[in-house]
Amino acid sequence: MNILFLGAQGSGKGTQADILATKVGVPHVASGDLLRAAIAQNTSVGKQAKPYYDRGDLVPDSIMVEMFLERLDEVDAKKGALLDGFPRTLAQAEALDQALGRVGKAVDQVIYLKADPNVLVQRLANRYICQAHQHPYNIITNPPKKPGVCDLDGSTLYQRSDDTEEAVRRRLEIFFSETIKLLEYYREKGKVQEIDAEQPIAEVTAAIMRALSL
Ligand code: ADP
Repeated sequence: MNILFLGAQGSGKGTQADILATKVGVPHVASGDLLRAAIAQNTSVGKQAKPYYDRGDLVPDSIMVEMFLERLDEVDAKKGALLDGFPRTLAQAEALDQALGRVGKAVDQVIYLKADPNVLVQRLANRYICQAHQHPYNIITNPPKKPGVCDLDGSTLYQRSDDTEEAVRRRLEIFFSETIKLLEYYREKGKVQEIDAEQPIAEVTAAIMRALSL
C-alpha cells in the first residue's frame, strides 16, 4: 500500500505520516528528511542539494528521483510506504509511476491536506524539529512536554535552515504554482481524498483513517 501525502509546507504531512506509519506498519519516507540527512553528512548529493534547499527552491528532479526511488527500494518499504514530499513535480510523478509500475505497484491513494496559506505561514514560523529523527513540534499548537527537548527520543529541538521568512515564502509559492498540479494529475486517476488540515492533529488523523478505511 503506497499512500502519498500531498499538502503545502506546514499542512501537517510529516506529523500525520509519522502517526499513520505506526498504525499502518509501513515506513514514513520523507524527501526532506533524506535531504537533511545527506546535507548533514556532507555527501556528494548533500553538497549539490544544499544551495537549492537553503533558498527554498526545488532540488533538481534528477537528484530527487534517484534518491527517493533508491529509498523505496529498501527492504522495509517493500510492502509499501507513506510518501511525503515526493513527488513534487509532474516529471517526478511520472518517474515514480513508471518505477512502481515496473514492479506491479502504484501510488494507491493520495491524501491532500488542505489549509489556508495564512495558517501555514503561522505554523512554520513556530515549527521546531528534533535532531535525532526530525519529529516535528509547534511551540504554540503542539509543544513538547519539556521545552527544547523531543518527547519521543530526548534529542534537542532546532529550527530548520529553510524555515526563514524568505525561504518559507518561496516554498509556499512553489507549492501553489508547481506541486498543486499533482492534485489534478492524481484526481484524473480518481485517487485523491481531501482533508481539512486546519483541524487539531487528532481530528486530522481520524479523518485520514476514515478516508483510507482504516
Ligand atoms: P517542506 O514541505 O516544509 O518544504 P521538506 O522537508 O519536505 O519541507 O522539503 C524541504 C526542501 O527540500 C524543499 O524546499 C526542497 O528544497 C527540497 N525538496 C524536498 N523534496 C523535494 C522534491 N521532491 N523535489 C525537489 N526538491 C525537494
